[in-house]
Amino acid sequence: MKIKDNIKAVKDILNKKHCTLVAVSKTKPAETILEAYDAGQLDFGENKAQELQKKAAELPNDIRWHMIGHLQRNKVKYIAPFVYLVHSVDSMKLLREINKQGQKFNRVIPCLLQVHIAREETKFGLAEHELIELIHSYDIREMQHTQIRGLMGMATNTQDKKKIKAEFAGLRQLFVKIKTMEIPENVAMQELSMGMTSDYEIALEEGSTMVRVGSAIFGARN
Ligand SMILES: *Cc1c(COP(=O)(O)O)cnc(C)c1O
Repeated sequence: MKIKDNIKAVKDILNKKHCTLVAVSKTKPAETILEAYDAGQLDFGENKAQELQKKAAELPNDIRWHMIGHLQRNKVKYIAPFVYLVHSVDSMKLLREINKQGQKFNRVIPCLLQVHIAREETKFGLAEHELIELIHSYDIREMQHTQIRGLMGMATNTQDKKKIKAEFAGLRQLFVKIKTMEIPENVAMQELSMGMTSDYEIALEEGSTMVRVGSAIFGARN
């Protein structure tokens, strides 16, 4: 059983560091996810709101669904009732919508703020000054239906390990810096989501608490 072996191999590396594995199941069918679930995996990541909603409806309800991809405001409603953690909050506007939907469904929606650490145009995320501004804004203090649990970042897609390491180290330093600041009650720096198939071992060295791994578990995507 290949998926089971893949999960075990990744977990053996993570366990020593108390890091959570989010199995990225985007584009994979429900039966493939079930195979991982039967091997004991409960955290799954998807990057499209409607695909996530559809899979959640078909699969066991003790699965913890992580939204890891860019999220449009008009799609928050599809996942708001049940999403376990939104990794990709990159604007105050989006956070306001998440808070609004949290209120509607009478729950607190846990979120991570996505920081732009890669030297690439294509990656989403807040710049450092935007992140600090958001955390210190008056608006965030008023939000009773969302809670910031930490930061997420994606390194540049490169073979240059030093560069990747430096980007992850930068994010960790920012995480530590915010921890020492005076921050609102609904903001906590507990989770640092960084690392995917190609770079999760580097991310672990740099203090990741949550890795998002897809192809190393499920094989290449079509
Ligand atoms: C697809 C994706 C991953 C996982 O990528 P792999 O290379 O398959 O491990 C991680 N994070 C995000 C945001 C993704 O979109």
